Amino acid sequence: MLYCERCQVLSRDETICPQCGSRKLRSASAGDPVLLFTAGTEEAQRITAAFDGEGIPHMERTEGGEGLTPIILGQSRCAQVRIFVPYGKIDQAKDIMLGIGVLKEAGEGENSPEPEPTDAQKQTKEVPMSPGRRAAVRIFSALLFLILVIAVVSAADMIVNLFKSFFH
Ligand SMILES: [Zn+2]
Repeated sequence: MLYCERCQVLSRDETICPQCGSRKLRSASAGDPVLLFTAGTEEAQRITAAFDGEGIPHMERTEGGEGLTPIILGQSRCAQVRIFVPYGKIDQAKDIMLGIGVLKEAGEGENSPEPEPTDAQKQTKEVPMSPGRRAAVRIFSALLFLILVIAVVSAADMIVNLFKSFFH
């Protein structure tokens, strides 16, 4: 995963930083702070409290909350808090956010949905689906995918044979 040192964001598969457009990217290392999430102040407090509970180091930066406005109006409702966690803790941090239901609500920003199991889905399409058999189909397609991987490694002929034996 490539990382922009200036913005502290990850560039998933692109060659430029999604934030500043810089091409000066390097591989992220476990200790790099990475922008995980942008949230309102209340939500950010919930998230960071959960991180504290799980012992995940984090760092916050408030956007648009500086200057005179917050003093006059109190805490601005539209103040956004950017939460950074070390690159090596991202998966753990995401699990916690899923656990407290934050990731579902906010669909915007830095968190992309889980990669879709495209291969398994392709397999599933070839199996007749009925509601009662879904679990079985899921297991079957997972097994089928595993077998396919092995088959691809060994020989193309084997794939053909496997398909024939599985679908006829
Ligand atoms: Zn950048």
